Amino acid sequence: MTFELISTDPCTGAVVWRGPVGNVDAEVATVAENWSIWASRPLTVRVETIRRFANVVRARATEFALLIARETGKPLWEARAEVDSVIARVEISIAAYSERTPQRRLQGAMGQRTAVRHKPHGVLAVIGPFNFPAHVPNSHICPALIAGNGIVFKPSEKTPACGDFLVDCYHQAGVPSSAIRLLIGGPDEGRALAAHRHVDGLLFTGSARTGLALNRLFADTPHRILALELGGNNPLVAWDPADIHTAAAMIVQSAFSTAGQRCTAARRLIVRDGSHEALLREVVKLADRLIVGAPQDKPAPFIGPVIDNAAADAVQEAFLDLVLKGGRPLRHLVRPDPDRPFLSPAIIDVTDAADRPDEEIFGPVLQVIRVPDFDMALAEANHTRFGLTAALIGGTPELYDRFWATIRAGVINWNRPTIGTPAGAPFGGLGLSGNHRPSAWFAADYCAYPVVSSETEHPRATIGIGLTDEG
Ligand code: NAD
Repeated sequence: MTFELISTDPCTGAVVWRGPVGNVDAEVATVAENWSIWASRPLTVRVETIRRFANVVRARATEFALLIARETGKPLWEARAEVDSVIARVEISIAAYSERTPQRRLQGAMGQRTAVRHKPHGVLAVIGPFNFPAHVPNSHICPALIAGNGIVFKPSEKTPACGDFLVDCYHQAGVPSSAIRLLIGGPDEGRALAAHRHVDGLLFTGSARTGLALNRLFADTPHRILALELGGNNPLVAWDPADIHTAAAMIVQSAFSTAGQRCTAARRLIVRDGSHEALLREVVKLADRLIVGAPQDKPAPFIGPVIDNAAADAVQEAFLDLVLKGGRPLRHLVRPDPDRPFLSPAIIDVTDAADRPDEEIFGPVLQVIRVPDFDMALAEANHTRFGLTAALIGGTPELYDRFWATIRAGVINWNRPTIGTPAGAPFGGLGLSGNHRPSAWFAADYCAYPVVSSETEHPRATIGIGLTDEG
């Protein structure tokens, strides 16, 4: 029996895409049989094909942005920025491949050469999240194709249209349809794909819960590569910033961009007790002004809805739980229409809450924690199993040195938001945020493995010791 998957516009409930759930075995078999054809094309040819992909996306940029906005509900300006990131990833991945996996020759004794070259893994599965349905999976797909792998890509069941569009752009650019396949489905297909014996590795971005399940699934196959890019419960320490307007803007950007549906979003704002009030007033004032709306509304919204009603329910439940635990709302989470997933940004002081859960609340909820001194701020910031991003706003160079040295996270910023990581840098986290296979600039590392070869044209060998006399 064939099942159908339907995605809907979170703003209206209208159907955006519908299509049959894919066949895991068939998609994996196609790539397993054919990936080596793609791999055997010279690197320069693969690179030129991927550059054509960038041109295809450029030519279809408006169509793509409109689709991303419709399927995720994010503002059109943000969807356009996501398409720009897809295009930019191409040159970044090409440069990163040559820097991270260059061919090296070492000269050995007696004219022998040693070469270090990289090989692709073979069939790589890419499983993506809904929040950046094009840019995030593409940050795995693009470097993996450059390295010569074949790909089976399963987009989130909430954003199949964006996944379909992305793969279509690769095919239109000339990447063989047998080298990158789209697999439509949800967790069941994701599990079957990850466990498939002809899949040589999995490049995953999503929640820590799913990442842990996948890690267990991979326990018996350590020969297969597993890259996990997971969530965060990211701290932002605002330490007596001199300019509270700028600080408030950075806090609001960090906490509420993409309706709080970013792995890098600030979840916990840590402030000095006693000197916090003016800053918090400013943050609340700015949050009051944020426009929540549909992608193409005029004036343009700052944030759209969360991805669906189930996600909005979960964020509301998590907020209520904080209130029940003793949290004091500074700005309530409001859902004007109970049938639609629009949520207004919420701020809650959880300093006196009992048993604060160390969970990623994937929506526009910022928790405030007041502490008496900087040592406590550091301890509070590190009081998490996650370790993706962290930022200090304010402070001094000396305090930032301590912050940088003490905080456990893959991204540590000073006087910059927790979101928006630089293009030419690695991106990954510690703890529940990843498994030490950072993506972005370092994605090349997990897309190919090094092979060392000692080589000489004229073989020469003698055994100089440990032999009996010649008879
Ligand atoms: P999710 O974990 O629910 O789903 C991600 C993908 O995994 C989907 O395609 C889903 O179908 C699939 N899946 C679910 N269960 C599975 C299973 N048991 N086995 C195999 N596949 C399974 O995540 P989401 O809600 O789509 O995305 C939001 C999460 O992604 C947040 O936690 C966010 O922080 C994280 N994220 C991380 C990064 C990063 O780079 N670190 C970037 C973006 C999003």
